[in-house]
Amino acid sequence: MLSIGQSSAMFFGQLGLVVADEVALKQLWSFRGASATLPCFFCRNVCSWSSQLHEHDDSGSLVPLTVSTLDAVVQHTNETLLEAASLLLRRKPALSKTAFTSLEQSVGLTFSPEGALWSNGLFNDMRGGGPLTCTQYDWMHCFLVSGIWNTEAGLLFGALAGTAANCVSFDSWLQSCVWPKSLSSRGVTGKQALKKRTATDSSDVKTSASEGLTLYPLLRLFLMETLEAPDASVAPAVQSYYALSRVLDLLVRLRNHSVDSSELRAAISAHLQRRLLVYGPSAFTPKCHYALHFPSFVDSHGRLVACWTHERKHKEVKRHGNQLANANKSLSFEKSLLSQAVLSQLLHLKEFSAVGGVQLVAPQDASSDIASSIMTFLGEYAQAQVSASLEAMLKHGELCARGDVVLAHSSDEGKFIGMVWFHVSISGAHFTLLAKWHALGRNVFKMLDAPSWVETVNVSRTCVYRVHKDMVHASVAP
Ligand SMILES: [Zn+2]
Repeated sequence: MLSIGQSSAMFFGQLGLVVADEVALKQLWSFRGASATLPCFFCRNVCSWSSQLHEHDDSGSLVPLTVSTLDAVVQHTNETLLEAASLLLRRKPALSKTAFTSLEQSVGLTFSPEGALWSNGLFNDMRGGGPLTCTQYDWMHCFLVSGIWNTEAGLLFGALAGTAANCVSFDSWLQSCVWPKSLSSRGVTGKQALKKRTATDSSDVKTSASEGLTLYPLLRLFLMETLEAPDASVAPAVQSYYALSRVLDLLVRLRNHSVDSSELRAAISAHLQRRLLVYGPSAFTPKCHYALHFPSFVDSHGRLVACWTHERKHKEVKRHGNQLANANKSLSFEKSLLSQAVLSQLLHLKEFSAVGGVQLVAPQDASSDIASSIMTFLGEYAQAQVSASLEAMLKHGELCARGDVVLAHSSDEGKFIGMVWFHVSISGAHFTLLAKWHALGRNVFKMLDAPSWVETVNVSRTCVYRVHKDMVHASVAP
């Protein structure tokens, strides 16, 4: 029953989507996971590279994990998955332990009779009638948590060790960047992530997911600036990184816009082909294969859902949990942890404003100079009340502050880059005063300081930038 004001209503729902990291999905759906012979929940004939089973498969039906498209792959349906689950249930009493383990390996499932896969009637309440149609891998975990980006950035630094674009140079280049306030105030710039790394290190780049998301376009900009014509020995590695960045651009875009799944499919395949060629099959992790499934998720669900918000909630529980060291056999630890987490969530909800779209943060009455400037610009609002603020929330909820460099657009000029001065609100409409920069190509701009008004709704996002030594030009991360 759902309480609605004074009354209650019966609420019916269907499980529409499960998204989680690979470990959680493995535990939920009892597939054998990334280190197994059959490492993919969605695929029936994809075997791990290290097993080499595809080399000894007389039927020719197995394909290695290193394929860069799903063309030769046989995917599970809800029916085939349930058949496999029920085969395990039927054969369990008759088989020896060793024979049963082989059967589990061959169908890619671990028999857990208490698990969701063996739960009668559950599938009727799932979208599409089963786990396959309501499950997504999480792109954040696949790419940015010990993910495809972390491994490839590490391998790339290994390949660039002897060049001017090595990791130590990138670290010092990074220190000259300026981050938008929304990132620097949360400490997710990634500025410190490479501090302890040596130039020859090719291990994974260890960052938080948010830091990785900030660093990937900066590393691309650094490569574009530092290796204008890369040497043939490193060019394939650099091209592979550019292809990976293209995939990440599309995934980031998918958070607020629609993206054609065929464009995403082509970008992912192009990257995986390059990665395989440069770094070989041993660097082709199961996450590389999982990435191939994202375009189908876009097709079937219309979008990709990621774990960013879930991960932020971990922080909330950890914040209280780390303070409570008095764990014992009773449930007092869990109880006090839960009550503190719920209380702070209630407080957060009290302060939370559900107003979406563009809005000023803590607006004040505008000075007469600002009011007359915006009224001259608009004309028709000549008598209206004007508020002003140094900070505004953009339409997708991103904070945009004075001094931030932003990507914006207008119908007559198309896309442009500028530095924000401040924002105003007048009769429910929002405008931003910014100084447009002159584009010179290859992400380089001449910094100008003649401000003009734009509608804040046309400001798309904030950008990281780096002022050149001449103090006249700046590079802006794409
Ligand atoms: Zn698969």
